[in-house]
Amino acid sequence: MTFGRRYGPPSVCKELLGKNTRTDPMIPDRRTRETGSGSALCSAAVSRAEVGVYVHIPFCERVCPYCDFAVVGVRELGAAQEQRTIDALLRELEGRRADFAGRTLASLYFGGGTPSLCRPESLARLAVAVHAAFPSVGPVETTLEVNPSSLERERLPGFRAAGVNRVSLGVQSFDDGVLKRLGRAHRADEARRTLRACREAGFDALSLDLIFAAPGQSLGQLEADLAETLEFGPEHVSAYELGIESGTPFATAAARGQLALPDEDLALAMFDAIEAALTAAGFEHYEIANYARPGFPAVHNQRYWRRLPVLGLGPGAFSTDPTAAETPFGVRRANLRDHAAWLARIEAGEAPEATPPERLDAPTARAEAMFLSLRTRRGVDAAAFAGEFGRPPRAFFEVAIEGLLAQALLRENAAGDLQLTGRGRRLSNEVFGHFVGGVS
Ligand code: SF4
Repeated sequence: MTFGRRYGPPSVCKELLGKNTRTDPMIPDRRTRETGSGSALCSAAVSRAEVGVYVHIPFCERVCPYCDFAVVGVRELGAAQEQRTIDALLRELEGRRADFAGRTLASLYFGGGTPSLCRPESLARLAVAVHAAFPSVGPVETTLEVNPSSLERERLPGFRAAGVNRVSLGVQSFDDGVLKRLGRAHRADEARRTLRACREAGFDALSLDLIFAAPGQSLGQLEADLAETLEFGPEHVSAYELGIESGTPFATAAARGQLALPDEDLALAMFDAIEAALTAAGFEHYEIANYARPGFPAVHNQRYWRRLPVLGLGPGAFSTDPTAAETPFGVRRANLRDHAAWLARIEAGEAPEATPPERLDAPTARAEAMFLSLRTRRGVDAAAFAGEFGRPPRAFFEVAIEGLLAQALLRENAAGDLQLTGRGRRLSNEVFGHFVGGVS
């Protein structure tokens, strides 16, 4: 639904970095920005004995010019097209559930695309099937990505009745000029009405997406966005720096010098402004792009940062299968991105994967453990790392850690736990590069 610059090594899918529909390799960004210090907030109950399920609905009313997700533009989602996709998702679930047998359901995430273009009955069918496949112990975080529109507002009570208990709303900005330059289909008043409608429908876990460093965006406009965000009082905010992804219209415009993006200093000032405003208002900055009020960090997204099993369904979705004796670091699968191709494979009874499953090896898993943990305020737990890989981080990354400590980009405690420093958070992509580039 929304995204910005995301950060990570080329070998890592975007799900690992916190959004859920991301379908192609990551390219390290020039800089990642985060502030804050370690906390126990990320210690929410997430477990390897569970599974998170991600369902990708690829339809969008209009394809935004900066988007590189697996999406299909549809002016209106026809009932037959919707039905066929839901049937295929159910079939894919049936084909894959055995790989996660015995696990309880930790989270269910409807992402896209714009999953709220589907009728509530369709999402209810999916939710019932997922719960039938994986029993739950207590309430399950069930998130739906929603775009601001009148159609989706009307459906909010139906989505709630279908079991959705968390809405992630793609506001992006409350400035119509910024929205227009981003090529978004909605305007700010639609977002305001949809935010109010979410509350009226009874959603008490509301996440609001913002984009910063958009073309022509000023610091004052971003500060106004933050002020209005706080007025609405969401429980969670995701703030993404706009990314220029190759192959998109924005990439073409940028190459021609036709995109007036904020410079590095202004983008950094925006990052600082977001962090200052949200933490002053009581949010925990628990991951590079994510802020939560106490008790509201995203359960599903934490599974990616903690490398826990996730079953991804739909075009472009990624899965991380559970570990087994022959695959001690797990298996990653990537579905075909193209909706028609994914559909054809499913309907033919074939696996919808784009490439053979990737059996993760120890060096890759260690590198991912380092940089994904460092994305969070919790950082790297040296004992847990040693429990998984046999030895603590220094045994594998001594040179990198020493260098980063010397540059004051990392801090280390007596137990060997590692976190980014304030400077490290501002230059975190450089930090991550040391672990990915130095895979050992
Ligand atoms: S709403 Fe725009 S950015 Fe979000 S998935 Fe659809 S096309 Fe992409």
